[in-house]
Amino acid sequence: MPDRPLVAGVDTSTQSCKVVVCDAETGEVVRTGRASHPDGTEVDPRHWWDAWREASGDGILDGVSAIAVGGQQHGMVLLDEHGEVVRPALLWNDTRSAQAADDLVAELGAQAWADATGLVPVAATTVSKLRWMSTHEPDNLARARTCVLPHDWLTGRIRADGAAAPDDAWTTDGGDASGTGYWSAGTREYRPDLLRLATGTELRLGPDLLAAGTDADALARRVVAAGATRLLGDALLDRRLVAGIGNMWLAELLWHGRLSPWAAAGDVDLAALAGALGWAQAEMRRAVAGARPVRAVYRRAGRPCPRCRTRFYYRGLGDRNRTAYWCPACQVPGPAERAA
Ligand SMILES: [Zn+2]
Repeated sequence: MPDRPLVAGVDTSTQSCKVVVCDAETGEVVRTGRASHPDGTEVDPRHWWDAWREASGDGILDGVSAIAVGGQQHGMVLLDEHGEVVRPALLWNDTRSAQAADDLVAELGAQAWADATGLVPVAATTVSKLRWMSTHEPDNLARARTCVLPHDWLTGRIRADGAAAPDDAWTTDGGDASGTGYWSAGTREYRPDLLRLATGTELRLGPDLLAAGTDADALARRVVAAGATRLLGDALLDRRLVAGIGNMWLAELLWHGRLSPWAAAGDVDLAALAGALGWAQAEMRRAVAGARPVRAVYRRAGRPCPRCRTRFYYRGLGDRNRTAYWCPACQVPGPAERAA
């Protein structure tokens, strides 16, 4: 019998993780799996990973060529700079944030919220939970670098095969982003001003490289301003400066711009960096539109550089979640090779 085209749908809901494998052509349900989530209105996301592993075990995913993840909307998963969870996730049904929601509505006005984001904050909305954090757990909020939604978190972990952070940054979809209270469904852009209003502090999430209107020159200036003591590769992965760059895009854009991840951020040529960031933006948009992303250097340690035929180098960049791949001839300075 010829192979059937199989796809899997995952519902990481409040109560459980459900996996349904279907024949993509006929819609026939071929296999299913399920595992429970803990009760409660705050949950350590590791339970979602464990439930996913259980629900997708026993060969349920054999032959599956695509996975779609959906699930509980709203909620809040705060991640530190390494992609590790800062505190248990607050779920949509955690009502501690009711007063915070009322306060946000009082401060800006219900109509202004609706105009800006398409919704008026309630206890479930992520922006209300962030306000609650700023009042009740400011230290945890200060450690947070990224806020993702429950199903974004599981999607990212699946893409990273269980590691704390995916290689090319976290991802979401318009449906879920529209429930955060700091994303405009009209312009499809995040509203950092509303995040700042909610948290009372400066924005910790950098501008998304893909966001409409994000200016590559301004991003480059932010990165160069990180200074002479900061490695360029490290600064570009800092989501307080630029969001949306993971290990893969880091490697590709630096190679494209002939810039070394090991250069001091403050010494980098602004125009060259802006050019590389602009190139990455254009490539990311092409990838979102369905084009196959360019990959010249990422995970190609030991293979020849297409420009100069020198073998690419690889080295970890500070911690296990960050990597650098570079051409030691086109991209200088750099340290010695480490095996891939
Ligand atoms: Zn080269």
